[in-house]
Amino acid sequence: MNEPLPEKAVRDGVRQEQFLTVLPRAEAVRRFETALDPKPLGVEHVPLAEALGRVLAEDVASPIDVPPFDRSGVDGFAVRAADLAGAGETAPVTLTLNNEAIACGVAPSLAVTPGMTTPIATGGPIPRGADAVVMVEYTEPVAPDAVAVRRAPAPGAFIAFAGSDIARGEVFLRRGAILGSREVGMLAACGVAEAPVVRKPRVAVLSTGDELVEPGRALRPAAIYDANGPIVCAAVAENGGESVFFGAIPDEEAALDAAIREAFAACDMVILSGGTSKGAGDLTYRLVARLGEPGIVAHGVALKPGKPLCLAVCGAKPVVILPGFPTSAMFTFHDIVAPVLRRLAGLPLRADAQLSATVPVRVASELGRTEYVMVSLVAREDGFAAYPTGKGSGSVTAFAHADGFFTIDALTEALPAGSEASVSLFTPHVRAPDLVVIGSHDVGIDAVVGRLAAEGFGVRVLAVGSLGGLAAARRGECDLAPIHLIDPKTGLYNESFLTLGLELVPGWRRMQGVVFRPGDPRFEGGEAEAAVRAALADPDCLMVNRNPGAGTRILIDGLLGGARPQGYWNQPRSHNAVAAAVAQGRADWGVAIAPVAAAYGLGFLALGEEHYDFALVGTRRGRPAVTAFLALLTDAAVQDDLRRLGFRPEGEGAE
Ligand code: AMP
Ligand code: MG
Repeated sequence: MNEPLPEKAVRDGVRQEQFLTVLPRAEAVRRFETALDPKPLGVEHVPLAEALGRVLAEDVASPIDVPPFDRSGVDGFAVRAADLAGAGETAPVTLTLNNEAIACGVAPSLAVTPGMTTPIATGGPIPRGADAVVMVEYTEPVAPDAVAVRRAPAPGAFIAFAGSDIARGEVFLRRGAILGSREVGMLAACGVAEAPVVRKPRVAVLSTGDELVEPGRALRPAAIYDANGPIVCAAVAENGGESVFFGAIPDEEAALDAAIREAFAACDMVILSGGTSKGAGDLTYRLVARLGEPGIVAHGVALKPGKPLCLAVCGAKPVVILPGFPTSAMFTFHDIVAPVLRRLAGLPLRADAQLSATVPVRVASELGRTEYVMVSLVAREDGFAAYPTGKGSGSVTAFAHADGFFTIDALTEALPAGSEASVSLFTPHVRAPDLVVIGSHDVGIDAVVGRLAAEGFGVRVLAVGSLGGLAAARRGECDLAPIHLIDPKTGLYNESFLTLGLELVPGWRRMQGVVFRPGDPRFEGGEAEAAVRAALADPDCLMVNRNPGAGTRILIDGLLGGARPQGYWNQPRSHNAVAAAVAQGRADWGVAIAPVAAAYGLGFLALGEEHYDFALVGTRRGRPAVTAFLALLTDAAVQDDLRRLGFRPEGEGAE
């Protein structure tokens, strides 16, 4: 118990030791679930008004018959069928009216004797002696106390018998049912005012890290917003829990220990994130280890990403430390923690949330670790294609755009292109988008797509680069592939890259140029080519490059003429990353498009216009969403938006 925390150096040693026992995924799950034996928590009774979405804890049998009495299904007359055996259109039979009318909620006082009838409203109780109801449409008043009937009803006609809907004692809802409006309605019809439901697991959520700032506050230098706190809270709620957020706690022993103990005492489950992979990580798990027996059952699991996952059971409560990277945290939550939480909440495992899809590209994988691969789904003729969208374990947006993930087995080195994979969906409902755009991404796309969304079209945009987009278009996985590829032979854009079945749709032009911090005398007021020559002559001048395959990279290599200045190997994948590097002083110059340079307040020396066009899959032209997209490209308001963003819509005269 409460041994003092060792010095940091020693702690690092301990951490090493811990990670030497990295467990396979299945073994970690087995240890966690064996130690915990997760079962639905106890029963609580909630009023129907609060029952929506809750899980029924017990079978519910009806205390009454529904309907509670024989009642009429129509407005008409309660009759004895035998009296009307000979009635018909040409042979009406006259019956004498009882001196009462049965409305809803009125108990009859007179019996229907031979030759008699009682007027009755829909829902009214059938009087003694009657065995059928005739609709008012088939009757005619013939005297103040007599009615002529033109139909011969079968016995039982238009009578809903007592208990015919739900019989007294009948189990009409089973435990485990998730209460929706229909279930709530059934409970109400039987007079059950409170539903017996599984108590929601209260789940404490804590983020850890000195660098974390609560969203809404100002960001200090080198700080980041706490993404895991809100993500985990929402994911807990999605899986039947009630989250209690304890905040983002700095990596300080006393503060963290107090917060963890408070959370542990107040809740059924504790989910921490961060602090397992480096530095203060030893702190968090040591504090968790002290909470109770059996303690940590797995620390270090052969997952990618997600290796630092730490699973503990302390005094029959699960305590989990998720990895700090938001995507790692989410994979491990959905894959390993959510099933346990769902069982505590009495929810079924998400068998509904599995779907088989073809993976169109090869996915490399590390041997020895179960690898999570995040995917976006697009429909194709024969099912779904699952596009890997992960951008490294730090990306939050990749997660938001993804539909789910699949795993590559620890013993598999790579998944070949065209493989089938079983995709675990983050939410069980996948709506096939109306328009799929796969290729090079550009902020101008949002100006078009935003309006399509407002028109009610579901749009999916996947950024895989120009060449990836063309390949997807050839496989029929998208409607349009945005491309900006220069043909080195002709210096012309895009046209020569189209293959059979693809048509070129003009998009817009984007001015590319050298970006630098305003006031830098090496660039300010100069002209692009000359400025780059001067930069190359200055050994202190640091560049930032672009990734191979990018259109911009071709331009940069042309400018450099074979030179490899400092910073050449720094090769980020986007215009924004180039602009951020220059704006924050990690580099002095790079090449980016004008709108991005403006957004970062950078100086800009124009180099030339790049053509950003669309390869359209010809057979998709007639689709409504495609037609709408093409119309928007030439729409005046969209073109205004594009100009405001710094683009020049195609088809306009040169400036
Ligand atoms: P750690 O496991 O604490 O070393 O964190 C690993 C990485 O995840 C670091 O880059 C952290 O800044 C980041 N990280 C940790 N916690 C959070 C959080 N709550 N939200 C966003 N990023 C986080
Ligand atoms: Mg940390």
